[in-house]
Amino acid sequence: MTLLGKIWNCRLATAALDVIFPPHCAACRRAGSWFCADCLSKVELAFKDPCAVCGGLKTHQCQAPEGLRRIDALVTLGFYHDPRLRAVIHNLKYNGATCLIPSVKELLAHYRNLRRDPWPWTGEESMVIQPLIGAPKRIRARGFDQAELISEAVQETIVPWAKRVSWLQRGKSVTAQADLKDQNLRRANVLNVYSVSATLPEKPPAVLLVDDVFTTGATMRDAARTLRLSGVERVYGFVLALGK
Ligand SMILES: [Zn+2]
Repeated sequence: MTLLGKIWNCRLATAALDVIFPPHCAACRRAGSWFCADCLSKVELAFKDPCAVCGGLKTHQCQAPEGLRRIDALVTLGFYHDPRLRAVIHNLKYNGATCLIPSVKELLAHYRNLRRDPWPWTGEESMVIQPLIGAPKRIRARGFDQAELISEAVQETIVPWAKRVSWLQRGKSVTAQADLKDQNLRRANVLNVYSVSATLPEKPPAVLLVDDVFTTGATMRDAARTLRLSGVERVYGFVLALGK
């Protein structure tokens, strides 16, 4: 078959797929797109950055132990209790709906345009974006890593000047709990799933960790701890949603 023939066949197949599985909104099921303009405009946006330690939204003196203070600032686009945003994240993560990535980018641009506060990383001379990569087993099962896809979208829409890196790898524990004498560090070290897999610059830039949801923040703190042990001085977090 000629190349043109192949392309035509592929287009036919795509057109046929659109007939069998016509796009419909992940949240309200309305036909026409994977996430409709109406749902997009109704997503509840977070214009106050949550506490980077506990994820709390109210102004407070965070009581979390010193060892947990590893993320300098956290930004969330919205909330997991919002059914529209939850539908996007859930379908992306569990149903492999990567067709929702353009909608994620639209949402991020919408948030960027409406946000009034400066980004916490304003003033950083350089910053890199590191996805909070998922467990290798799950990535193999899904065929993609949603944190990776979201970090691409965040780079494109929010911080185009920041380079994406893959400094972290996820695997088994690298630091034995017994090696940590400090009680707070031990308590905060329960996960210990990330390690640095690259040679970092002598003075590493700030790092923006990107993930889909911030629930307890345990994995993000774990990644931040690992990066700090490798000389990174400032770690920021960006998530699509806050909460369970
Ligand atoms: Zn909708």
